[in-house]
Amino acid sequence: MTQTVRPLPILEGRDHDTKAGNYFVSNYPPFAYWTEAGLGEARDALDVPPPADRPLGLYVHIPFCRKRCHFCYFKVYTDRNAAAIKQYIDAVQRELAMYAEHDFLGGRKPQFVYFGGGTPSYLSAAQLTELTDGLKAVLPWDEVEEVTFECEPGTLNEKKLQAIRDFGVTRLSFGIENFNDHILETNGRAHLSKQVYAAYEWARAVGFPQINIDLIAGMLEETEPNWIDNIRKTIELDPDMVTIYQMEVPFNTTIFKRMKEEGKLTAPVADWDTKRAWVKYAFDELEKVGYGISSAYTAAKNPDQTRFVYRDHLWHGADLLALGVSSFGHINRTHYQNDKHIESYVKTVLDDGRLPLQRGYRINDDEALIREMILQMKTGKLERDYFRDKFDVDIVEHFADVYRQYEQAGFLTIDDKRITLQRDAMLQVDTMLHEFFLPDHRGQRYV
Ligand code: SF4
Repeated sequence: MTQTVRPLPILEGRDHDTKAGNYFVSNYPPFAYWTEAGLGEARDALDVPPPADRPLGLYVHIPFCRKRCHFCYFKVYTDRNAAAIKQYIDAVQRELAMYAEHDFLGGRKPQFVYFGGGTPSYLSAAQLTELTDGLKAVLPWDEVEEVTFECEPGTLNEKKLQAIRDFGVTRLSFGIENFNDHILETNGRAHLSKQVYAAYEWARAVGFPQINIDLIAGMLEETEPNWIDNIRKTIELDPDMVTIYQMEVPFNTTIFKRMKEEGKLTAPVADWDTKRAWVKYAFDELEKVGYGISSAYTAAKNPDQTRFVYRDHLWHGADLLALGVSSFGHINRTHYQNDKHIESYVKTVLDDGRLPLQRGYRINDDEALIREMILQMKTGKLERDYFRDKFDVDIVEHFADVYRQYEQAGFLTIDDKRITLQRDAMLQVDTMLHEFFLPDHRGQRYV
């Protein structure tokens, strides 16, 4: 039987074609409002003891990759040798030691740890063990509920995976993106599909409690038959969680550079309707085999047991102590970002003995409410009591204009307990969130 993917209705007035820019809303207010002037607030936040019930997480950024993907907008380094990596590891450990002198910790240990990048698995087993031993010596991991580790399949072998499990990773996240070698190569990925299968088998043999795989809907040259095949192969692999992003083309990517050279405004990838329809197809197929949809991007096998602790805590206002070049952290309701350049990051930490903070922003009560509400909206469900208890606000009354408009459009339903998004709306939730922003924060790029 030939399968096809049905297009979805789109929010009126939203983009149809994929244009350059960031679509994904990852934080609030947008990064453009985090400034050098806010650094004093970020430093002050470090000396405020935390409320007793606020969880602490640790994020560790590893900025190295084997090669740069054409859709990548992160600052990544593809040419660093072992000495440079050793220096970086030293700097990250030293950075944590500096944080340990501040009151915001309040005796807390991390409840969750996340290694992101870049490519954390670019590091060798020995480098990773050295790094994590050093971090644990400052802040022990004996209370962690989850340690997530992002990896690129082509950087793994059995020994490295065993080391990754041994130092405590519970959730291994594979950046697969696509199973088709031509599409992987066209998009500049470093790995091929045979490396996916080998690495996945080793990871299962090692026995990680949870394996997530990342896919991207709408990569360069993606087609509907190939997408259907991707989902079939995903289901065959049987991962605990599947995360699907819709392809965006930020300004500082190779794809955008090419668009500019060719004078094109529309990116050479599928339009938004098609990408949403592909994600919907994927979710429908995953649901047929027992997965539950736990956010606009994720499907979880055994949804009652398969948690994503990092996401859930972060979307409920946890503190995130972020280490490493260009990392984004959040402490005592204050955002901060680290130095974006590895040379100056390392120098500031190792030579000057200072925290490498580059910009900050203290959020007020309104912004904290909006931040948590829009992030939790990505789960497709908002519990009204949660916001009444935490912010003393009924969100339906507080944002009545926007919610009633979305209700009338059929995007969500509202009852006494919760707001529930329809699936079609959930698949375009990032475009819905801007309506809740304070007027000053609208229309800004997420950079
Ligand atoms: S692996 Fe990830 S971080 Fe590295 S270049 Fe590709 S998209 Fe960027």
